[in-house]
Amino acid sequence: MSLPSTARVVIIGGGIVGVSTLYHLAKAGWSDCVLLEKNELTAGSTWHAAGNCPNFSTSYGVMNMQRYGLELYRNLAEEVDYPINYHVTGAVRLAHTHERMMEFDRVRGMAAHMGLQMDICTPDELQQHMPFMETHDLEGGLWDPLDGDIDPSQVTQALAKGARAHGAKIARFTPATGVSRENGEWVVHTEKGDIRCDYVVNAAGYYAARVGDWFLPHGGRKVPLTVMSHQYFLTEAIPEIEAWTKEHGRKVPMLRDVDTSYYLRQDTYSLNLGPYERNCQAAWVTSSDPMPDDFSFQLYPDDLDRLEWYIMDAMERVPLLGTQGVSRNINGPIPYAPDGLPMIGPMPGVPNAFEAHSFTFGIAQGGGAGKVMSEWIMHGYTEWDMWSTDPRRYTDYTDQQYHLGKALETYGHEYAMHFPHHEWPAERNKKTSPNHDRLIADGAQMGAYSGWERANWFAKGSDDTSEEATHTWDRSGPWEPRVREEVEAIRDGVGVIDMCGFSRYTLSGDGAAEWLRCTIAGALPKVGRMNLIYIADQRGRVLTEMSCIRHGEDDFTLMTAAVAQWHDFEILSRSLPDGLTLKDITKSVTTMLVTGPKSRDLFGGISDADLSLGWLTHQQATVAGKPAMLARVSFVGELGWEVHVDTADAAEVYAAIRDAGATPFGMYALNAMRIEKGYLTWKGDLSTDYSLFETNLGRFVRLQKPQDFPGKAALIAQEKAGLTKRMVALVVDPDEQDAPYMAAVFKDGERVGEVLSSAYGYRVEKAIAMAMLDIGSTAPGTVVAVEVYGKMLKATVQGDDPLWDPENARIRA
Ligand SMILES: Cc1cc2nc3c(=O)[nH]c(=O)nc-3n(C[C@H](O)[C@H](O)[C@H](O)COP(=O)(O)OP(=O)(O)OC[C@H]3O[C@@H](n4cnc5c(N)ncnc54)[C@H](O)[C@@H]3O)c2cc1C
Repeated sequence: MSLPSTARVVIIGGGIVGVSTLYHLAKAGWSDCVLLEKNELTAGSTWHAAGNCPNFSTSYGVMNMQRYGLELYRNLAEEVDYPINYHVTGAVRLAHTHERMMEFDRVRGMAAHMGLQMDICTPDELQQHMPFMETHDLEGGLWDPLDGDIDPSQVTQALAKGARAHGAKIARFTPATGVSRENGEWVVHTEKGDIRCDYVVNAAGYYAARVGDWFLPHGGRKVPLTVMSHQYFLTEAIPEIEAWTKEHGRKVPMLRDVDTSYYLRQDTYSLNLGPYERNCQAAWVTSSDPMPDDFSFQLYPDDLDRLEWYIMDAMERVPLLGTQGVSRNINGPIPYAPDGLPMIGPMPGVPNAFEAHSFTFGIAQGGGAGKVMSEWIMHGYTEWDMWSTDPRRYTDYTDQQYHLGKALETYGHEYAMHFPHHEWPAERNKKTSPNHDRLIADGAQMGAYSGWERANWFAKGSDDTSEEATHTWDRSGPWEPRVREEVEAIRDGVGVIDMCGFSRYTLSGDGAAEWLRCTIAGALPKVGRMNLIYIADQRGRVLTEMSCIRHGEDDFTLMTAAVAQWHDFEILSRSLPDGLTLKDITKSVTTMLVTGPKSRDLFGGISDADLSLGWLTHQQATVAGKPAMLARVSFVGELGWEVHVDTADAAEVYAAIRDAGATPFGMYALNAMRIEKGYLTWKGDLSTDYSLFETNLGRFVRLQKPQDFPGKAALIAQEKAGLTKRMVALVVDPDEQDAPYMAAVFKDGERVGEVLSSAYGYRVEKAIAMAMLDIGSTAPGTVVAVEVYGKMLKATVQGDDPLWDPENARIRA
């Protein structure tokens, strides 16, 4: 094929992910796209993958993506007329503990919510599925009938055939060598010539960091990726497996012993064992061991000693494994992002550039990833909210030490349970508040929020602060009495929370206000006041929420969640007109929230602020002699002020607030109180899965205003058509656990919606959940049931007034 000189999209990398992206683009009519592969297709991680294809994931977004992909694979061979060895064998996951059974119950519930059937099994039922294993030490397990294994090269070639049939081009043996930007277009350089294009995609697998470096001069960042060495081995053929297969006419189902950390599956008549070992190894991380320019179709040397403990354990579980020797070992490179989830979406800081890399389960996820990536390119949004895989979830703190440390932790705990009160310990303290030492001295148990360390709760005396104590799905633990005390201290007196890391931008310039009006769905605050503003996508769905503080006609501070820092900056900057100035000042200013009925008294002693100014006002004043902006808002729903100060002054201001009698409180108390007020969290309750109206934010939308903001037409149409679903608060019968994200809600046995966030409200003494329900189930008083770790809990739909202080008398006091 001669290399075209222009294309709409150039994809760099011909593994399963790049090829699936090309297939989805071409199938949607974007046929003028070219994929560059430096060697043969599949030369990276794809050719040597074991090809296991589970639906299972503890992330709803990722599981949904896998669900889509596996459905695609089941029909692909026929669709494109290319044979694929795809064995849908089913798989058992084993649980050694009650907690693991609870995790399975939760995933089974999520799966059912997206139309997948998974079954909870007793040890006997597990053995009926997988007859060759010992079950005496098991609690039970999970059966996924649609799990299986696929030939990774064949599925990639099938996608390639489909892409070509729809007109897309694949240039094999054509390495991309760099990129440049000319007149708003990308120029992708190759040894065979340049291609000018509108969009470029980094799908270079474990080379993605190297390709990512080409974008540094164009606003890019270092890609936070570590290459790990991952192994599996095959045994010689096992006669018993052969006999079983011939008798039953199918393969033995796969087994995942997730508490031990390996999978075991049939391969022809042999077994394939693949552990995720704690004593794992990264590759190519030091200058003495650089990544080679080309590693196509190569492997690392065998290192079975590293797997010995897992092999011994697996032989006890499935004694047949020990009856034959090893026929072949595969030790290949696999790229890890810090959290082990892929990067799929806009390349941070770079226009019209995208990334789809860092896949640890790229065969299972490749089909869905291609859909998601192609939607980002074609529409600028995706059908499902995919924040869990959005590259912008990581910001500037991910240096090499961070992503290496995190990759080792994540790989070594690939199948670990992610408990709601557990904080992973590797690579902490990347961003600390000036009050960090003081918080620790006060007993703070810290959590990482987009790299920022914030207090979750404050321990006292002999409280158990061990990591083990957090290995529970339960609400209660050593933190619970302290969280309750923190809430009560705020309810009855005054508390302070150090909210370091609030993302913060200044916006100014002639016309800033008018531009914002064209950008947000609602109205701007008057000068001297502040309010919440929302930005929607073209579908009217919630892109983001910000606090908007108006200092002058065209002079604003915009604040948003710590984790949204790059995401929101990009949303604002991508349509920013010439003449306006948008600056990220997150690091130079920090925030403390001082709140509770006695907060006015507290400030009376240490501040010259006018404490009579009402709710949603802000003012410049001093606190402890330091300049501060006081904003009269409180996310906990009590009288209170956010104190915004220069980071350099924060320690003195915090000390003065504490010395004046404020009780320190943490994020757990904050969360427990915000839900009593029905205040929402970004990517918890607020996401692009739902529109502003569905999220019950109609009061922040002004359809009558003349400006044509994004999503306006869609919201007008939705208002006309009427809502089919809407967010409500539920009061749930109290139990040991809070309802997890995407817990299904039923009415009269029918699925009517899902939980988005939940917490126990200590002021109202009620378990509360924010849920998205079919409109027919949203009338106050409607009785529903929420599935919480397999249990059906009765819940009652609430009205729109918050559960705590429905008149807002306390915040306006
Ligand atoms: C031992 C092992 C077993 C595995 N088992 C499974 C499994 O059972 N199930 C599962 O889902 N996943 C498994 N994986 C993971 C899976 O292999 C990867 O997630 C997946 O292959 C990633 O696909 P990709 O397209 O992102 O990257 P790759 O397959 O690595 O493709 C990237 C491509 O980019 C090309 N490239 C790089 N630089 C350039 C350039 N400058 N110009 C042009 N082309 C370039 C490379 O040659 C390569 O072909 C396994 C991995 C290993 C190591």
